[in-house]
Amino acid sequence: MQELDRTAPAPEDWRVELIGVPAGTEVHLRLRLESVMEGVLVSGEIEAPLTGSCARCLESIEDTLSLDLQELYAYEGSTTEATSEEDEVRRIEGDYLDLEPLARDTVVLALPLAPVCRDDCAGLCVDCGQRLDDLPDDHAHEIVDARWAGLAAKFGTPSSSPGAPGESPTTEEN
Ligand SMILES: [Zn+2]
Ligand SMILES: [Zn+2]
Repeated sequence: MQELDRTAPAPEDWRVELIGVPAGTEVHLRLRLESVMEGVLVSGEIEAPLTGSCARCLESIEDTLSLDLQELYAYEGSTTEATSEEDEVRRIEGDYLDLEPLARDTVVLALPLAPVCRDDCAGLCVDCGQRLDDLPDDHAHEIVDARWAGLAAKFGTPSSSPGAPGESPTTEEN
């Protein structure tokens, strides 16, 4: 059995649409490599920083992802290798275990497609686009029914006043 404690920079593609591990940030692997009949059993944990934005309110999210992983890397010619489809088993290439695809799959499959800044994030106001969590509880917009809009305009403006009450010309007394 072998222990492995390694920090490596995150590659470019550890992300889904709204959230991911920023490229170049430190990914920490703490793994045990155990020799078993069929190959090498890799288990342990992976820790990576996350940045993204909330799917409801677009607020930025910063978090740390911490995941357990366990995977068998099969020896060439082992029964596991022989009885598994090409893409459903990881293989040991010579003396080499390629841990990056395992780490990537573990991280990317755990990323939420619709991350939220907090579980009960209320999202954005559909009328003004502001975060509802930043607004008072009674935040609302006056809704004017379009069918009444014409009337509101008619009665709302004092433009149609009937003739200015100007001074009437003084009648001449002669
Ligand atoms: Zn949010
Ligand atoms: Zn609003």
